Amino acid sequence: MKFINLLAQYHAYKQEIDTEIFNILENSSFIGGSQLEEFEKNLASFVGVKHAIGCSSGTSALDLSLKALKEDEKDEVIVPSFTFIATAEMVVLNGLKPVFVDINTQDFNLNFENVKKAITPKTKAVIAVSMFGQMSDLESLNQLCEENQIILIEDGAQSFGASFKGRKSCSIAQISCTSFFPSKPLGAYGDGGAIFVNDDDLAQKIRILLNHGQTQRYKHEFIGINARLDTLQAAILNVKLKHFQKELEKRQVIARIYDENLKNCKVPEIKKHCISAYAQYSVLVENRAKVIEAFEKAKVPYAVHYPIPLHKQTCFKAFNDLTLKNTEFVSKHILSLPFSAFLSEDEQARVIEIFAKF
Ligand SMILES: *Cc1c(COP(=O)(O)O)cnc(C)c1O
Repeated sequence: MKFINLLAQYHAYKQEIDTEIFNILENSSFIGGSQLEEFEKNLASFVGVKHAIGCSSGTSALDLSLKALKEDEKDEVIVPSFTFIATAEMVVLNGLKPVFVDINTQDFNLNFENVKKAITPKTKAVIAVSMFGQMSDLESLNQLCEENQIILIEDGAQSFGASFKGRKSCSIAQISCTSFFPSKPLGAYGDGGAIFVNDDDLAQKIRILLNHGQTQRYKHEFIGINARLDTLQAAILNVKLKHFQKELEKRQVIARIYDENLKNCKVPEIKKHCISAYAQYSVLVENRAKVIEAFEKAKVPYAVHYPIPLHKQTCFKAFNDLTLKNTEFVSKHILSLPFSAFLSEDEQARVIEIFAKF
């Protein structure tokens, strides 16, 4: 059994994907091009924003978002500690200060009241991570940020395809980022990502930044970076995007089967008005070591997202004494189960069986 069955997905779309790849090889044009333009157009229309900008990874999407912010005196960025390192890593790399805020144990996302309390005159932005595929109430967060003249960034690396009150992930915050890392809900065959904005000037600035701050050939207005999405990945993603809605629906069906049949654990709580993209189907278990032992014995794959919160990492030594109760609790008890649109009924039954024995 595979934790995420990427091979079955490839076989399902093989003809279309192979055709795209071979066409690009025959054209020998690997950067930019019509495939990228078409993919960006389809992405923007899927999400419901004016501009979708392909880039080299979810990490570079976050990096570019922060680089595109106005230069001012404010240097604090509110982030969760229960997330993948990239969220806070890019804050530090851009000379800004992360302010770690605790999460809710229901949806594993930033707690609204705690965000409110963490806002100071130095707060420049809030990065809301849509953990495991479920969005926060980004409408309320957006309003809070607007009132305080702060930028809201959605780290939607895990939530592409999710929605809140009918609005898609990456369409609500002022700037939104996603990742096309192979195991994410929409995955490339290598690294990839995208940034979503409605503002024309911001979109243009991000496009310039991701190509070395270049406004015309060899004319550089800003210090930028190479963070382009390559043609092959764009073409592959474009094929997968066509099938994505169908996969999302399949993910809901598989999640419902887990919800209704898993015993001895707390299944994901999906809030009213939310549709999760289930980047991970993660449960809370009382004794994780014991459950993991049973997974090992049954030869069933599992993963822990994430065992050490960011504020306890060596690279964030200055924050090691901080206590974030919910973050620390969840890090100890979370466990991700095999999940993808291509998980078979038999495979899922084997996972459910493990939990029945506790
Ligand atoms: C995966 C992920 C990223 C980074 O995306 P890459 O494409 O791997 O760079 C950032 N934030 C979160 C929450 C993620 O899950």
